[in-house]
Amino acid sequence: MVINYSEEEWNALDEKMEHPERVVYCPRCGKELIYRGVGNSCEVKCPTEGCIKGTLRGL
Ligand SMILES: [Zn+2]
Repeated sequence: MVINYSEEEWNALDEKMEHPERVVYCPRCGKELIYRGVGNSCEVKCPTEGCIKGTLRGL
């Protein structure tokens, strides 16, 4: 799977990952991004199906 997001989209995902308490909106569709911590990794995603999402492992 090739993930090809714009810089703006990556920035939004990064910001939410680094600051889960912050309200960050998806630059693509304008919905609020969701943060979910799973074990020692975390995931940030847009609630819209097939929209942007990012995962960070091994914190
Ligand atoms: Zn979205």
